[in-house]
Amino acid sequence: MSEASEPTTPARADPLRTRAGLGRRAGRSEAPGDGVQDLTDRVRKFIDHQVIPVEREIETDPEVRAELRAAARAAGVFAPSAPRGYGGLGLSMLEQADVLEESGRSLLGPLVMNCAAPDEGNMTLLEHVATPAQRERYLRPLATGDVRSAFAMTEPAPGAGSDPAALTTTAVRDGGDWLIDGGKWLITGADGAAFFIVMARTGADAATMFLVDAGSPGLSVGRHIPTIDAGFTGGHCEMVFERCRVPSSAVLGEVDRGFANAQVRLGPARLTHCMRWLGVARRAHEIMLGYVVERELFGHRLADLGLAQHLIADNEIDIAASRALIRTTAATLDKHGRANNETSIAKTFVSEAVGRIVDRSVQLCGGQGVSHDLPLARFLAEVRPFRIYDGPSEVHRWAVARRAVRRYEAARRGGQGSAEFVTRDPQGGIRA
Ligand SMILES: Cc1cc2nc3c(=O)[nH]c(=O)nc-3n(C[C@H](O)[C@H](O)[C@H](O)COP(=O)(O)OP(=O)(O)OC[C@H]3O[C@@H](n4cnc5c(N)ncnc54)[C@H](O)[C@@H]3O)c2cc1C
Repeated sequence: MSEASEPTTPARADPLRTRAGLGRRAGRSEAPGDGVQDLTDRVRKFIDHQVIPVEREIETDPEVRAELRAAARAAGVFAPSAPRGYGGLGLSMLEQADVLEESGRSLLGPLVMNCAAPDEGNMTLLEHVATPAQRERYLRPLATGDVRSAFAMTEPAPGAGSDPAALTTTAVRDGGDWLIDGGKWLITGADGAAFFIVMARTGADAATMFLVDAGSPGLSVGRHIPTIDAGFTGGHCEMVFERCRVPSSAVLGEVDRGFANAQVRLGPARLTHCMRWLGVARRAHEIMLGYVVERELFGHRLADLGLAQHLIADNEIDIAASRALIRTTAATLDKHGRANNETSIAKTFVSEAVGRIVDRSVQLCGGQGVSHDLPLARFLAEVRPFRIYDGPSEVHRWAVARRAVRRYEAARRGGQGSAEFVTRDPQGGIRA
């Protein structure tokens, strides 16, 4: 899972512009292919018939989890986001929209289908930024589900959080190696991860990403930070680096290009989070509908009482609006490889909408809604942190507002009237 928002350090060349766009990478299409509807149907059936009936057991029983992973492979729904050459289904962002939404209808769905955070985002990053040797060593076992990984950016105050430029973890050259020093926290999946993608400062305004193997001398994974959610394998952990020595081959991407290269992960990872959490919200909505059509109150079905209909309709509106934003953003990412403004808007809206949808569903289910007989209370806790990780809502709103003002000012300098200022660039993407 991620971590931070827009780096405030000066950006140089943009890796998403210098590399092929996300949708144009080998084996990926820009539009949903014919098979995606079929795949989406298979995922829905897999989640409904094989995952949801045992989801409580999966959490505590690793054997059930392993069996379900085998079942996901057999159903042809395993690793939808991973590249084809590495055993995945190689879906474009737009193709992932419905598939990942369906996977998210169970909290455990993405895990058994190997499209959960943080591995899914790390696969995207490795696919685009890693050397062929690094892809063999790290991406392949990640895509096959043999190992887990983590992305380590955030640090305790005063270090990197909403503002990645506050990064305090350092990496300095020592002969042909690098020595990493510093502390991280809230690192999802760190306990049990086979490797970490670590962001460290390598200059006044520069950072570099490193691939660090678990068990490297000088690296320790510490306390699980107790958080409101509980759905991520490997917890949200503290990490300490003390003269942690890594070879030069551990550099992921170019030295000093860490902030720019991290964008390869952050935009798509925010959107895939939106897809999965929308699935959770939809499931909450479905459970609520099941309750309101059965419950009789004041001589009517609950579903027919006006104030209840208001909540039901608002859920429908939030689901439809979230889906539309996810799709347009996914299409822009596929087409241009970059969609900073769209991902900020989608992430802010969807992270808040899923909270509203689950909360309304809890409300209409009454006492059962807050009990653990239904999964709704659990969903409420699981979706809340999404308004903070992947960039807090306030940071994204700040970025969206600054871009709007910049756009307006640029249009005015260009002689266009305020009513006519351009909101879309010639390629169809909202300007970042
Ligand atoms: C469950 C969970 C999992 C996580 N997993 C990972 C992970 O795997 N890897 C990783 O590196 N990090 C991870 N994080 C960390 C997460 O990315 C950070 O918590 C997030 O970036 C915010 O940083 P911070 O906690 O330091 O809060 P701060 O940076 O201290 O921000 C606090 C609050 O200030 C407000 N704020 C910030 N900027 C502005 C602004 N410009 N204007 C107005 N208000 C503002 C926001 O409300 C924000 O929530 C995870 C966090 C959580 C909760």
